[in-house]
Amino acid sequence: MIHCLPIPTPFAVGRVNVYLVEDDPLTLVDAGPNSATSLTTLENALAEHGRKVEDLERIVITHQHIDHIGLVQILADRSGAEVVALEMLAPWLAHYGEGMEADDAFSEAIMARHGIPEDVRYALRSVSHAFRAWGAAATVTRTVREGDTIEFGDRSWTVWHRPGHSPSDTVFHDAQRSELIAGDHLIKHISSNPLISRPLEGSDPDDRPQALVIYMRSLEQTKAMELARVLPGHGEEIHGHVQLIEERFRMHERRARKLLGLIADRPRTAYELAQAMWGNVAVTQAYLTLSEVLGHVDLLRNDGHVVERTEGGVARFAVA
Ligand SMILES: [Zn+2]
Repeated sequence: MIHCLPIPTPFAVGRVNVYLVEDDPLTLVDAGPNSATSLTTLENALAEHGRKVEDLERIVITHQHIDHIGLVQILADRSGAEVVALEMLAPWLAHYGEGMEADDAFSEAIMARHGIPEDVRYALRSVSHAFRAWGAAATVTRTVREGDTIEFGDRSWTVWHRPGHSPSDTVFHDAQRSELIAGDHLIKHISSNPLISRPLEGSDPDDRPQALVIYMRSLEQTKAMELARVLPGHGEEIHGHVQLIEERFRMHERRARKLLGLIADRPRTAYELAQAMWGNVAVTQAYLTLSEVLGHVDLLRNDGHVVERTEGGVARFAVA
């Protein structure tokens, strides 16, 4: 039996789904953000199932975002649970503060290159600093890799790395039940923004990862799976993942076409494109919308429709 425990977060996304897997060992998937409110909610939710934090034996992490990892170490310290995560994520979690600092520096370089003004970059940096306390460092006691299995008394999960929403997105497949624990790889009510993130191994802002391209490749892999249900990191359980993924592909195609029209009009920076697409949201949510634009521009560049030209450190996109 797997119970969904929705835990409040301070973020726009709303609650995060933590899953309690009633099996041997007793397992929690993700942990919610590091706040007293979240911890109390989690304790109450566990109590509803006759459990307490101290009973937990294993914590499995789906990806690096702070609404999923904030409470991991607190729960592990109280319970002695093993902490399982993708091998490449373990060093980032161990050095959380430094990792976030480097991530912010990477984002800032990308924003500067793509025309986001200094005051907007400064404001975003303050927001990121303010949110940092909702995450925390954690020690991974068992690392896993693509294709590994995580065994339980009554089930077995295969580990698949499906990057795109974040570099560390990991999904866990129970082939016998046709179930997928998906984290934020696939969410029903919102498209999982493929945020441009610093790669976990090596980083060069001039050589940013093509987050949307990577994400769509991961979605193709999930689409090919036979699944009765998908348990996501936010919102409702998903039935009919193939349809949902096809819908996402169509949405990305539409958006890319719209951007191509704007670029054909005249060469623009990614920031100007984001403003043309979303108006003031491009300012208040500058990094999110920048990631969206760059993701779609990557599709157009890879298809040979668009080229990137850099002048004075700022990149502009033009039709090829
Ligand atoms: Zn996430």
